[in-house]
Amino acid sequence: MMEPLLSRLRPRKEQGTYALSLVYGKTVYHYLISQDKAGKFCIPEGTKFDTLWQLVEYLKLKADGLIYRLKEACPNSSASAEAAAPTLPAHPSTFTQPQRRVDTLNSDGYTPEPARAASPEKQRPMPMDTSVYESPYSDPEELKDKKLFLKRENLLVADIELGCGNFGSVRQGVYRMRKKQIDVAIKVLKHSTEKADKDEMMREAQIMHQLDNPYIVRLIGVCQAEALMLVMEMAGGGPLHKFLIGKKEEIPVSNVAELLHQVAMGMKYLEEKNFVHRDLAARNVLLVNRHYAKISDFGLSKALGADDSYYTARSAGKWPLKWYAPECINFRKFSSRSDVWSYGVTMWEAFSYGQKPYKKMKGPEVLDFIKQGKRMECPPECPPEMYSLMSDCWTYKWEDRPDFLTVEQRMRNYYYSLASRAEGSPQCGQVAEAACG
Ligand code: ADP
Ligand code: MG
Repeated sequence: MMEPLLSRLRPRKEQGTYALSLVYGKTVYHYLISQDKAGKFCIPEGTKFDTLWQLVEYLKLKADGLIYRLKEACPNSSASAEAAAPTLPAHPSTFTQPQRRVDTLNSDGYTPEPARAASPEKQRPMPMDTSVYESPYSDPEELKDKKLFLKRENLLVADIELGCGNFGSVRQGVYRMRKKQIDVAIKVLKHSTEKADKDEMMREAQIMHQLDNPYIVRLIGVCQAEALMLVMEMAGGGPLHKFLIGKKEEIPVSNVAELLHQVAMGMKYLEEKNFVHRDLAARNVLLVNRHYAKISDFGLSKALGADDSYYTARSAGKWPLKWYAPECINFRKFSSRSDVWSYGVTMWEAFSYGQKPYKKMKGPEVLDFIKQGKRMECPPECPPEMYSLMSDCWTYKWEDRPDFLTVEQRMRNYYYSLASRAEGSPQCGQVAEAACG
């Protein structure tokens, strides 16, 4: 084989685009990295990513159209090479405790996803190492069979319960596709003659069917057999709040920020697609592993009309009031900005390591509390930057609240700042000790 294999990344004059140059033997190959309308980065016809480093990390694992997987960076000798990896933040994997990987999830019988590519320099699984980063239908062969309704014979429903709710239970299973079998979570509608329940589950399926993002639980399809079943990709690490309870010593604040940043990326995607979630809470953020979270439970979600920025509920229902913005409760108006409010509460739950929000208060009392201008206090472990962001998410007037575009950016900046701080400090894993209050 021809050696060495070297690569260099530099910004181009055209704003937002980058040139990736690979040296193979004596030949230099140049690839254009561009951003689409939504700001996602990709090489031509390659997989799209929210950030440049995610793309680079991915290209280290998969060639994805390049002549080879990214390996070594060119030495930074010339002036032009100075620009290599310009705004590329430090690799966040440098600041967590590598020896404690996902295995720690296992104590509660979770079935976390193992790392697929276990190269020696990889200390822990990145989301893109897992089988649920991309849709199983991203393979064109598999896409041929993509239909909303799945054949029962391809579905194995195991007698293992992953969770339960009003609708029935969520069971573990396996779905057989053309080329592979995948682990799935199956929401089984309890035996009910009520057409309304079936309609509700089908509405949830219709919403999920339109979404495809690494930080959102994907729908594989629906199966109508012994019961109506919603077949989803598996996020076996359980809900975020349960995972964090009692783990202050074990899970550093940087890990919490990492997961919340992923939630923000998923929510930014929903905002772009004009969907409102309406039930964003730590209980509906499921983990694939300790470093990978996905938004789930689209039971209350709505697709907004092309010209609408909010949805008005006909009547108030069984609502998670403690997560709802004032305009939801007062006027039944739901928008991405009201999801931002819920994101703030989710942040509070995460940084308080799974505490219940507004502890002793009843739902309706919370609205009074908010109207008086009061807000939940900064959790002891929570960094001031993060408390400031959650406080902004709790801006009373929805017009003045940040959107997810802003929230994601602030989360990302903070998370990356931890990564670069950790890189420069000898005490990796000790980042974000700075707590407020
Ligand atoms: P509900 O509408 O009743 O809140 P959820 O969709 O939140 O239902 O699911 C309830 C529980 O089932 C979750 O808390 C989780 O434990 C489990 N569950 C749901 N979806 C998945 C999934 N895709 N992978 C793994 N577990 C899941
Ligand atoms: Mg739920």
